[in-house]
Amino acid sequence: MSGHAGAADGRRLAVSVALEPMEADPIAQTPLEPDANSRPPNIVIRGYGQYYDVRTPEGIVRCTVRGVLKRARRKTDPVAVGDRVEITLTGPGEGVIEAVAPRLRTLSRRARGTEDVEQVILANPDQLVAVFAVAEPEPHPRMLDRFLIIAEARGLGAAVCVNKIDLDPTGELRRIFDPYRAAGYPVIETSATTGVGIDELRAILRGKVSALSGPSGVGKSSLINALHPELDLRVGEISAVTGKGRHTTTATTLILLDDETYIADTPGIRQLGFWGIDFEHLDRYFPEFRPYLDQCYYADCTHLTEPGCAVLAAVEAGSIDLDRYESYRALRAGTGDDR
Ligand code: GDP
Ligand code: ZN
Repeated sequence: MSGHAGAADGRRLAVSVALEPMEADPIAQTPLEPDANSRPPNIVIRGYGQYYDVRTPEGIVRCTVRGVLKRARRKTDPVAVGDRVEITLTGPGEGVIEAVAPRLRTLSRRARGTEDVEQVILANPDQLVAVFAVAEPEPHPRMLDRFLIIAEARGLGAAVCVNKIDLDPTGELRRIFDPYRAAGYPVIETSATTGVGIDELRAILRGKVSALSGPSGVGKSSLINALHPELDLRVGEISAVTGKGRHTTTATTLILLDDETYIADTPGIRQLGFWGIDFEHLDRYFPEFRPYLDQCYYADCTHLTEPGCAVLAAVEAGSIDLDRYESYRALRAGTGDDR
């Protein structure tokens, strides 16, 4: 598993911002305050058109964006949910975003109607938690594979949350997720209804910024509600989350669970898409393939038909799950349309 960041991610980011050699990017030339050693830096939790809500140690500040930032970043969103930012206050609860820390990682897609403009769904996520249900709706492993590929390709940690286990009293239904455990992913079984597994889920989220992704109806909102009992402390954020009637242009909201633990309900696979993912290297995004990749006869083996392929041999031997391999093959051999 790659990309699991430590609990002190905010601090580490602030330090690396201060130490990084400055590039041509004018944003990088405005370093954040390094004194974030003593407190987490400000983080963008939600966007509303021209406005962004920034969580600071002093509270939430609604900010506009300095024009120079917009002009400097034409190929990506100047500011995105999850960005660590420097702001100046212009009034009570109001401010301006002056600088954005370089993004360590992003969950992104191609902006609609463009060829090469990045739309950032979530900046600086540490991990992607793919949520599926054992039933209602029936799990779709090929879709889960796609979520995991996105996480691997983006350098994020990944985990699988199997919800609604109260609908699986015999434990038979959840066996469809066994190959993911075998591949090395944490698989957490939960029931938002009964509360089973919520503590375990909370434990893997702690200290990280996590994107919760999965098809609709699997129980993402129910899990988020089950995760924070301290509703009274976070009414503003909760109402923004459930926020019916509030118009937003970016769907992502970062929900604070506790200091430095955030979750974002990110969209489904269609919205995330495979933009920027290198299918030539798809094999690297299947962790259970990795032990075999340097054992194939051909260095550039695609693991589709080549003789002497160690991946195919591992599938034959039952060391690699056949369904996972088929998922790889469909995507590797497929055309852009299948992706
Ligand atoms: P989301 O679309 O992923 O956010 O899913 P929701 O949280 O809206 O849940 C969809 C439906 O599944 C609702 O009717 C929930 O009450 C139900 N649900 C959520 N979690 C569980 C669970 O653990 N067990 C059962 N039986 N139902 C659940
Ligand atoms: Zn091979």
